[in-house]
Amino acid sequence: MASPNLLPPQRRQNQVFSALLLIFLIASSVYYMTAPERSEDEKLTTAKEVPLSEITQKYSQGKLSEILVRGSNVYAKMLSGSYVQSYKELGDSIGTLGWNDPKNPTPVRVDNIELKNFFKDHLGDLVFFILMIGLGMWVFRSLARSQSSAMSFGKSRARVADAKDIKTTFKDVAGCDEAKNELEEIVDFLKSPKKYTAIGAKIPRGALLVGAPGTGKTLLARAVAGEAGVPFFSISGSEFVEMFVGVGASRVRDLFLKAKRNAPCIIFIDEIDAVGRQRGGAGFGGGHDEREQTLNQILTEMDGFDKETKVIVMAATNRPDVLDVALLRPGRFDRRVFIDKPDLVARKLILEVHARNKKMGKGIDLEVIAKQTVGLAGADLENIMNEAAIFAAKHGMKTIAQGDIVEAVEKVALGSEKRSRKINEKEKSITAYHEVGHAIVGHLCEESDPLHKISIISRGFALGVTWFLPKEDQYTTTKQKFLDEICGLLGGRAAEEIVFHEITTGASNDIERASAIARSMAMRYGMDQEELGIVSYGERQGGAALGVDLGMTRNYSEDAAKKIDAFVQRTIAAQYVRAKGFIEANRSKMETIVAKLLEIETMSLEEFLEIFEGKKVEKKTKKIV
Ligand code: ADP
Ligand code: MG
Ligand code: ZN
Repeated sequence: MASPNLLPPQRRQNQVFSALLLIFLIASSVYYMTAPERSEDEKLTTAKEVPLSEITQKYSQGKLSEILVRGSNVYAKMLSGSYVQSYKELGDSIGTLGWNDPKNPTPVRVDNIELKNFFKDHLGDLVFFILMIGLGMWVFRSLARSQSSAMSFGKSRARVADAKDIKTTFKDVAGCDEAKNELEEIVDFLKSPKKYTAIGAKIPRGALLVGAPGTGKTLLARAVAGEAGVPFFSISGSEFVEMFVGVGASRVRDLFLKAKRNAPCIIFIDEIDAVGRQRGGAGFGGGHDEREQTLNQILTEMDGFDKETKVIVMAATNRPDVLDVALLRPGRFDRRVFIDKPDLVARKLILEVHARNKKMGKGIDLEVIAKQTVGLAGADLENIMNEAAIFAAKHGMKTIAQGDIVEAVEKVALGSEKRSRKINEKEKSITAYHEVGHAIVGHLCEESDPLHKISIISRGFALGVTWFLPKEDQYTTTKQKFLDEICGLLGGRAAEEIVFHEITTGASNDIERASAIARSMAMRYGMDQEELGIVSYGERQGGAALGVDLGMTRNYSEDAAKKIDAFVQRTIAAQYVRAKGFIEANRSKMETIVAKLLEIETMSLEEFLEIFEGKKVEKKTKKIV
C-alpha cells in the first residue's frame, strides 16, 4: 500500500497561506514604490497654516517653488523647501486665485485626490490586514504542529505507522501460539478482504487482547499490522481522557475518520480500560461524563462500520474484569484473545528472540535461564537479555557469556546485588542458618522442587535467598506438594529457633506465603475435606489468572471462617514440627554447610550436595526468600 495521504486539510491550508503571502508581497512593493510621495505627504500634513492671500502674495513675488492643490487643500513649497498650507473654496479655480500667470515660472500642480486618498487611507489598512491574517495563520499552524496545545484538542493524537514502517511480524513474537492462531484470521482478512466479503462472512470488527503487563499485547497488535502490511493507528486509552469534556469523543471521531481514509488498516487502542470501564459504576471519582462520551463514541464508530469497512479495531487491557459489557457485545470487541505469561518453552523462545540482535558467546544455555524465570513476562525477559549485554560490556567483553545472563536474571528478578551493604556478623550468621534451613528442609521434602542455589548476599530488601527450580511449569498441584512447600518455607524460622533460641522478623515473608498456601488449600481446593468439605469459600474478584487479585468477597458463615482459620493454624503448626525435625536430625551437617556458606556467600546445588550427601540432582525455578 502506498504512503497514505494523511494530511489533505493541512495541505490546503498551505496553499491558502502561500497565496496570502504573495498578495502581501505585491502590496508591500506597491507601498514601497509610492514611498517618495509618502514622505512628501508627511511634510504636507505638518505644514504651517497660513491665510490663502499669503500664498497668492508669495506666488506673485516668486518666492515659491511649487503650489500643490488637493481638493480644497492648498500646499505651497517655499524656495527654502519648507511647506505652508491653506484652504480654498471648492469652486475657486487656479484662474480665479490668479495662479495662472503665464510669466510666472512657479508650477501649479493639481493632484488627483481620489487616487491619492485611496492609497493614503487604505493601503496601510490593507497591509495591516494581510499581516494579521498571515500572523494568525502562522500561529495556528505552529499550534497545530505542536499538538500539545489546547487549540488542537479535537485532533486525534494517534500515532500512525505506515505499512512500510512496521517491521514487526509474528516471528518477533515468541510463544503465544494460540493468540497468534486467532489473530491469523484478522491478518488474512486485512490481506484479502474480498475472499471473506464474497462468501458473505461477517467480518470481525474488534479484537481485545487480554493479558498481564509485559506479555506482548502491544507487540502482537503491531505484528498483526506488520503481517498484513497495513498502516497502524495507535492511541492509548488514557490519551482520550484529557483537559476538556468532549475532547475524547472528538478525538475518537477524528481517529476513525483518518483510519477509514487509509483502510485497510488497524486501529489499536492500548489500555482501553481507561475509557472502557463499566459505566455508572461506583467509586471511580470524577471524569465520568468525559469517559462515557468517549466510550459511546467508540461504540458508535464501531457500529457505523458497514460490511465494506476494512478497519479492524484492536484493543489491549490487563483488566478485562472492569470493562463495560457494551464493549464486549457482538459487533464490537467480540473476539477476545488471551495472552498468558510465557511457560518454559515460550520463555526460552522469547530469550532466543532477544538474543538474535546481540553478540552471544559460545556455550550459552538459554534453557537454564528459562527455567530460572518462572512467572516473568516477555518484557522482563527482554530486560534480562539487555542487562546481560550491559554486564558483558561492563566487564569489557565482546560477547555475552552465560554468567552475564545469570547475573542479569538475579538483578531483574531480585533487585541488584548489594555486596556493599554492611550487615553485621550476627545478622549474617542468622541469615546463613535461615537460608540453609530452607535448603535442608526443602531438600528433604520429597515433593519439594529441587534446590538450585543458596545465597546470603543481600538483594533488594531480602537478606538472603534460597532458590528452588521446578522441573516444569505445573498446572496441578497435589496436597502433599502444598504441605512440603509450607514445610520448606518454615525451614528458615525452624533453623533460627533451634540454633539461636530466639526468633527474628526475617521469616515474615515466608510465614505470609505459607499461610496463603494453607488458606487456599482450605478455601479454594477443598483440601480440608473432613471439616470444610469439598467446597469453595469466598468469591474471587477479577482476574486472578492475570496476576491481578482484587481480593475476596466473604460469602461464608462465621462458623466456616473459624474452621478455615483452624485448618490454617493446624497445618502450619504440623509442618513447623516437621521442619524442626528435619533440622534437628541434620544439625551437624547444617553447621558445616553454614560455615562454608559464610565463607563463599553463594552456594550452588553441587556444593550443597557435596557436604549434605553426595548425589547429583536435576536443576530447576522458584525461590524461597
Ligand atoms: P504489553 O503491551 O502486554 O504490556 P509489550 O507488547 O509492550 O507488552 O511488551 C514489551 C516488550 O516485551 C516488547 O516490546 C517485547 O520486546 C517484549 N516481549 C513481550 N512479549 C514478548 C514475546 N512473546 N516475544 C518476544 N518479545 C516479547
Ligand atoms: Mg502495552
Ligand atoms: Zn526465608
